[in-house]
Amino acid sequence: MRKRLLGNLFGGSATEKGPLLSEVELEEVGRALEREAGRRLGRSLSIREVDAGSCNACELEIHALNNPYYDIERFGIRFVASPRHADVLLVTGPVTKNMREALERTFRATPNPKWVVAVGDCACTGGIFADSYACVGSVSEVLPVDLRISGCPPRPIELLRGLLALLEKNASWKP
Ligand code: SF4
Repeated sequence: MRKRLLGNLFGGSATEKGPLLSEVELEEVGRALEREAGRRLGRSLSIREVDAGSCNACELEIHALNNPYYDIERFGIRFVASPRHADVLLVTGPVTKNMREALERTFRATPNPKWVVAVGDCACTGGIFADSYACVGSVSEVLPVDLRISGCPPRPIELLRGLLALLEKNASWKP
């Protein structure tokens, strides 16, 4: 017991180091997004996030975009509480049978023109939950999808690169 305690105290970190991200790269992608949003919309980009049945790890990466490090509001990108104020629906998870109607109603409540982005392997293909009796499947089984961002989960910088690809009119983004 004593040995283990000392090992835990002085044995160094047991967790993996996070991936390195260059602040220059973040600034470049963010500013490019800001420019493209201005060009396509004439204003900031508004996003409504919908968890259609994810394990929530995709949400953790999406939430990170609002933390003081990524701070995406400085690039004029914001998450909104109502689909009526959104340009983009960011959808995570395989669509569960229980969430299908809510997702469809959210889509109908979002004004045109609008984009649907499937975030994470589950949203893109059904992922590890594809064969579950509780799931309808990928987001494209329910809604027209404009962009797929794969990953399990995709990192915040990949989400930004994906949004940039969306505004630049590429159909998919694979990290
Ligand atoms: S893609 Fe991975 S992280 Fe995202 S909801 Fe599916 S299992 Fe979870």
